[in-house]
Amino acid sequence: MRTISILIPCYNEQEVLHDLYDRLSMVMRKIDNYNFEVLFINDGSKDRTLDIIKSLRDFDKRISYVDLSRNFGKETAMIAGLDYAKGDAVVILDADLQDPPELISEMIDYWEQGYDDVFAKRRSRAGETWLKKRTAKIFYSLLKKTTKFSVQENTGDFRLLDRRCVEALRQLRESQRYTKGMFSWIGYNKKEILFDRDPRIAGETKWNYLKLFDLAIEGITSFTKAPLRLSTLIGTAVSAFAFIYMIIIIMKTLFWGESVQGYPSLMVVILFLGGIQLISLGLLGEYIGRIFNETKNRPLYFIDEYNDEKINLLGHDKHPVKKGN
Ligand code: UDP
Ligand code: MG
Repeated sequence: MRTISILIPCYNEQEVLHDLYDRLSMVMRKIDNYNFEVLFINDGSKDRTLDIIKSLRDFDKRISYVDLSRNFGKETAMIAGLDYAKGDAVVILDADLQDPPELISEMIDYWEQGYDDVFAKRRSRAGETWLKKRTAKIFYSLLKKTTKFSVQENTGDFRLLDRRCVEALRQLRESQRYTKGMFSWIGYNKKEILFDRDPRIAGETKWNYLKLFDLAIEGITSFTKAPLRLSTLIGTAVSAFAFIYMIIIIMKTLFWGESVQGYPSLMVVILFLGGIQLISLGLLGEYIGRIFNETKNRPLYFIDEYNDEKINLLGHDKHPVKKGN
C-alpha cells in the first residue's frame, strides 16, 4: 500500500488544530486504500500548538511532527516538511482549514492518472479584502511578464506532489525561498483543480502587507533579472536623451549665445536622475543581498524534536536532512 504524507506547517494554530484533525480523519477514513502520515511542522509556535500535536499523536500514530528550533517562516517550514515526509506523495495543507482537505481524494485520483503535481487553484478568495486581491493580481501580472517559465496565478501551496517533485524541490536549498515559484520552475506534469477558498476558521492570519511586500520582492528577485535589465534600459534611454540634448544645447549656445538661466530645469534633471540612480542602487542591493545570504551556505533550519525524540546535531545523519548541491 502506498503512503500519502500530509504536510501541515503550523505557527500559533492552537485554535484550529482539533477541527483540522477532525476534518482530516474524516477524509482519511473515506480513502481506505492508502496509508497516511500526517506530518505537522511546528514552526516555533509560542502557544500550545506543540502540546496539542503531541496529544493528538498519543492516540493516532499516523501523526508525526517536526519541531523547529524557532520560527523560520512558512517557506522554510515547508522544506523541512519535505525533508522529513516519508510518503510516495506529499500533500501540503494549511492548518487553518482555508484549504479544504476534502479535495485530497480528487488530488489522489489525478495522481493515480500520472500527474506529478496536482495543484488547487482558487476560484474565489472568501474572507480576503479587496486590497489583498488587487495587490495579488498586480504582483502576479508583474511576475508573469518578467519570468521565462509559466507562473501559476491564484494558487497557494495547497497541492499534491509526487515523490519526484519532492526530491526535485529538496535539491533547491536556497535560503531565501519563494516556494510558489519553485513549484513552477521544477516542471513535471501539472494538473489544476478548482476550489473555493474558505475564510480562516479561527485565529489570525500571520501575513500583513509588509510581509506580503517582502514575499513579492523575494518572488521577483529570486526568479528574474528583469529589474536589473530594466534599469540598464532606463539608463541607456536617459543617456541617449541626454546626449542629444547636449548637442542641441551646444549648437544653441554657439549660434545664439546663452544668457545663463535654467535653474528649474537643472534641478528637475538632477532630482530625476538622482532618483533613478537610487532606485537602481537599491535594486543592485537586493540582488547582492541575496548573494550574501546564499554564500553563507547555512543549513535552512534546525530541529528541536522529531516524533518525541530530541534532535542532537551529532546524530544528524539518522534523519533525512540533506544538503543539496
Ligand atoms: N505559517 C507557518 N509559519 C509562519 C507563518 C505561517 O508555518 O511563520 C503557517 C500557518 O500556521 C498556516 C499557513 O502557514 O498553516 C498559512 O498561514 P496563514 O493562514 O497565516 O496565511 P494566509 O492563509 O493568510 O495566507
Ligand atoms: Mg490562512
